[in-house]
Parts: sequence; structure tokens; C-alpha cells
Amino acid sequence: MTEQSPVTTEKAKPVLPDAQTVTSVTHYTDHLFSFRLTRPQSLRFRSGEFVMIGLMGDNGKPLLRAYSIASPSWDEELEFYSIKVQDGPLTSKLQHLKVGDQVILRPKPVGTLVLDALLPAKRMYFIATGTGIAPFASLMRDPDLYERYDEVIMCHTTREVDELKYGADLVASLADDPLIGEFIGDKLRYYPTTTREESPKMGRMTTLLKDGTLASDLGLPPLNSETDRVMICGSIGLNNDMKAICEAAGLTEGSNSSPAEYVVEKAFVG
Ligand SMILES: Cc1cc2nc3c(=O)[nH]c(=O)nc-3n(C[C@H](O)[C@H](O)[C@H](O)COP(=O)(O)OP(=O)(O)OC[C@H]3O[C@@H](n4cnc5c(N)ncnc54)[C@H](O)[C@@H]3O)c2cc1C
Repeated sequence: MTEQSPVTTEKAKPVLPDAQTVTSVTHYTDHLFSFRLTRPQSLRFRSGEFVMIGLMGDNGKPLLRAYSIASPSWDEELEFYSIKVQDGPLTSKLQHLKVGDQVILRPKPVGTLVLDALLPAKRMYFIATGTGIAPFASLMRDPDLYERYDEVIMCHTTREVDELKYGADLVASLADDPLIGEFIGDKLRYYPTTTREESPKMGRMTTLLKDGTLASDLGLPPLNSETDRVMICGSIGLNNDMKAICEAAGLTEGSNSSPAEYVVEKAFVG
């Protein structure tokens, strides 16, 4: 059996299987950045889904990790929002991406943070910590979200203030967005909090939900299965605590095959 060697260009730059080209890179902190890739014409996905992306490892095999697509399904390019783990097998390399570099992308999108996994209601809560905002960066730009819900509450918790910047900048840009601004109108509300650095609103989202602070800050009733739907994307601890809060409020977990009242996905393993 012969092993297939990579196709090479005239400059001997290897063309990777399923490779896409980096079109922009933005660094937010020393451990957070975003980048955009060309999108394969054949790639269809639902806003909120994730794919496997990566780089060729030193052993010549693709080193792939799950990544939420942060751009909406209608975007011509693909956007990702990434952690930089200093000794992380993938992100220790990925953080050095430059425009023109290639990234491997396996075009098989999957995930539970999709609008189809929830039954219709009045209000949608997005609950994210850290890079868990990535799937919501996609969903917040999907006109379908605003057609299905009267009100969308984007809750994002990080340790430090500058870790909110990616989400804050995105939300700020949406009201005047020529493509989806008119769908959003005044339906999108943003509720950022920090747990370590001083900021206008401090605390874990689970605490702020449980003690009624979030509801009183936003002038909303307590979580209710009739009116509210919840999408959760954070650490395993946050996800478990949020699941308990949703269940206590009478919401049941949904999936692609059985839509219900809340859905949850890990922002990372570990
Ligand atoms: C469904 C799913 C979607 C994901 N989407 C994203 C995404 O959109 N953006 C993203 O940056 N990562 C995402 N991840 C995590 C991603 O798959 C990798 O873990 C991450 O890129 C680090 O890869 P690595 O090889 O450098 O280190 P790994 O060996 O994968 O991770 C090393 C350690 O770093 C920590 N870690 C990893 N990822 C994160 C993170 N995102 N935030 C905080 N700590 C982390 C964990 O403690 C982990 O054990 C997702 C994971 C899953 C399961």
C-alpha cells in the first residue's frame, strides 16, 4: 500500500486535505484571539454548530480539535474565537496563525446549540463563559433567531474585563449592521459579568440567576418553561449548575431529535 503524498504547489508549499486559508486574525488578550477562514462552497451548517479544525502535527498527521463556528450560516467566510493554551497541542501553534496560512477543516458540522432543538417561546437566554460565547456569536447574527423570539438575552461571564471584548464589540456592531440590524431592532440585550476583575456587574451567572439579580437588573420575570428557552455553553461546572437551575424552573433538556426547553454544550473538555 502506498501512502498518498501531499499535493505541492510550485513553491513546494504543501496543500493540506480539507485546507482553508486564513483571511484575518485578531488578538484580544494574551490568551484569546479570533480568526477567519475561507469557506468551502459545499459547507452548509446551522448557526451554533461546531466542526473539527486543526493543523498538521509534527508527526505528519492532522491535529484536530472541536471548534464552534462563530460566524452565522449566511456568512461567506468562517470565523472562530479561540483560547491560547500555552502548552496546548493545537493552540500553542494555532495562536501564531497569519493571513495566508492554511487550517484543516473537516466539513461535518454538528451540535446541539441550534434553534431547531428548542420549542417556540417568547424569550431566549444565551448563557456563556469564556470562549463559550462562540456559538452565540453565530446565533446572534442569524435573522432566524429574531424571527422566532421577541427577546434575546446574551449573558457572558469572564474573569477579566478585556476577556469580554470580543462579545462586547460584536454586540455593539449589530444594531447598525446593514444586513441584520433591522431584524434585531431592540430585541437583543447584553448582560456581561466578570468574576475576578472589578466591572459594572460582577458575579457568576448562576448566582445572579438564582438570587434574582439578573431578573431585577433586566426587569424580567423568573425563568419559566412557558416563556423562556435557554442555551448554555461553558465549563462542565457551569453547564451542570445551569442545568440544575433550568430543571428547577421546570425546563426540560432538548436535542435535535427531540426539541424542548433548554440545550447545553461543553465549551471545552477538561
Ligand atoms: C463542542 C466543543 C466546542 C469547542 N469550541 C471551541 C471554541 O469555539 N473555541 C475554543 O477556543 N475552544 C473550543 N473548544 C475546545 C477546543 O476543542 C480545544 O480544547 C482548544 O482549542 C485547546 O486545544 P489544545 O490542543 O491547545 O489543548 P487541549 O489539550 O485541547 O486542552 C488543554 C486544556 O486547556 C483547557 N482548555 C481547552 N480549551 C479551552 C477553552 N476554550 N477555554 C478554556 N480552557 C480551555 C482545558 O483545561 C484543557 O484540558 C471546544 C470544545 C468542544 C468539545
